[in-house]
Amino acid sequence: MSAQIGVTGLAVMGANLARNLARNGYTVALHNRSIEKTDALLEKYGHEGDFIRTESLQELVDSLEKPRRVLIMVKAGKPVDSVIDQLVPLLEPEDIIIDAGNSHYEDTRRREAALAEKGLFFVGVGVSGGEEGALLGPSIMPGGSRKSYESLGPMLEKISAKYKGEACCAWIGTDGAGHFVKMVHNGIEYADMQVIGEAYDVLRSAAGIEPAEQADIFTEWNKGTLSSFLIEITAEVLRHTDPRSDKPFVDILVDSAGQKGTGRWTVVSALELGSPTSGIAESVFARGLSSQREQRLLAQETLKGHESSVELPESFVEDVRLALYASKIVSYAQGMDMLGAAAKEYGWELKLDEIASLWRAGCIIRAELLDDVMKAYAGEDRPANLLLAPAFAEAIAEAVPAWRRVVATAVQLGIPVPVFSSSLAYYDGLRRKRLPAALTQGLRDLFGAHTYNRVDAEGTFHTQWSGDRSEIEAVDTH
Ligand code: NAP
Repeated sequence: MSAQIGVTGLAVMGANLARNLARNGYTVALHNRSIEKTDALLEKYGHEGDFIRTESLQELVDSLEKPRRVLIMVKAGKPVDSVIDQLVPLLEPEDIIIDAGNSHYEDTRRREAALAEKGLFFVGVGVSGGEEGALLGPSIMPGGSRKSYESLGPMLEKISAKYKGEACCAWIGTDGAGHFVKMVHNGIEYADMQVIGEAYDVLRSAAGIEPAEQADIFTEWNKGTLSSFLIEITAEVLRHTDPRSDKPFVDILVDSAGQKGTGRWTVVSALELGSPTSGIAESVFARGLSSQREQRLLAQETLKGHESSVELPESFVEDVRLALYASKIVSYAQGMDMLGAAAKEYGWELKLDEIASLWRAGCIIRAELLDDVMKAYAGEDRPANLLLAPAFAEAIAEAVPAWRRVVATAVQLGIPVPVFSSSLAYYDGLRRKRLPAALTQGLRDLFGAHTYNRVDAEGTFHTQWSGDRSEIEAVDTH
């Protein structure tokens, strides 16, 4: 018996993906650096399908049908390079190495180029959905060459999540495109969680609504346009009472948010691409601020807030829902815009409608809204920005008055709402006729002779500030 795919790296994610493949009828060869994990998997779940136990990478490779498919699911970073280096001498041209871990897309680009020189396919695959997704059907974002997808695609589509019967897996684009899109997905996930946090904080700190009551509100919100996995589990966490203290569970948690780095990667990449991804950036910074516990303790004693009292409107809870909805759409708009910028930079033909469609099930940001995002990008008239798609432009227009009220209320009460407010600033920045960037250009020209363009003439100009202030035509040094 030969296996259709081999999996090396059988910690939680690798083991669950291997089981998912076997449950879907594939014969899976198993390998792990230390044999214990392989045996543990076989002992507990060996009955779930056809597995081949192997003790070395050579054995793993020998057990595979050709062209061979080896899926690596080891710790991201150096271990991936180490496993690739060990595999390469054992493989033949046309064989495929798949990295389904959370690798940085630049690493994937480098690895793909190096392996292509040896005639091997290297496919960086973004996988979202956590442990449960890996087992029951994740959202899958494969990069690499189109040719490699011919052999790999059907298998990945079969084990992926399904949205109304459609596979949440499609070829994303060459080299690191899959890992890039997965990274931006994670960035959006940061923003999604932050806006939920801001809604919770405003509801509690401004309106005094306790967690259990908020759980009912989030459950209700989950029935409408906000319907999503994250809103659903927010209700679950807020409803939970800590059995040890009998307090709301959220109150016994230390308020420092952890991060594994994909949000930070998204922001670094956004800065490099010049993409204004402020919602994701503010979410990463908010986690950073939450973790500065020492400074926060000192600031609580020292810094004055001078909050003013605010009379809340009857519609406050609904206002917060609309602020959350509008901010969330802005985060998606920014994420999609960043994907467009990356496509230009890296020569990827990213299909934004297809990408949105892959996120509709299996992954952490799965949401009803993504069906609308998909539809917005599906037609002939692809909007220049998601916010300009008629359905979203209309939905946001309806939310704007409430959104402004919530941001103003939070500011007056000293409740930080970095994503609610920066998303509103982005929205206003996008729609404003004149921006103070004009003044910035004037300053840059004065102190650094950086030149400027005029609204009333073609060309690039410089004012001779230290001379007679006459204007000269200049070489563009923007
Ligand atoms: P992990 O803890 O990141 O890594 C442990 C696995 O890597 C073990 O199998 C370990 O082998 C192996 N390993 C470590 N260094 C190695 C080396 N130098 N050579 C060979 N093998 C090595 O495992 P995980 O949590 O299952 O995550 C795997 C990947 O999935 C990571 O990239 C992670 O970021 C990603 N991930 C994704 C999600 C998601 O939702 N998509 C969730 C969690 C993780 P030993 O048993 O011999 O130590």
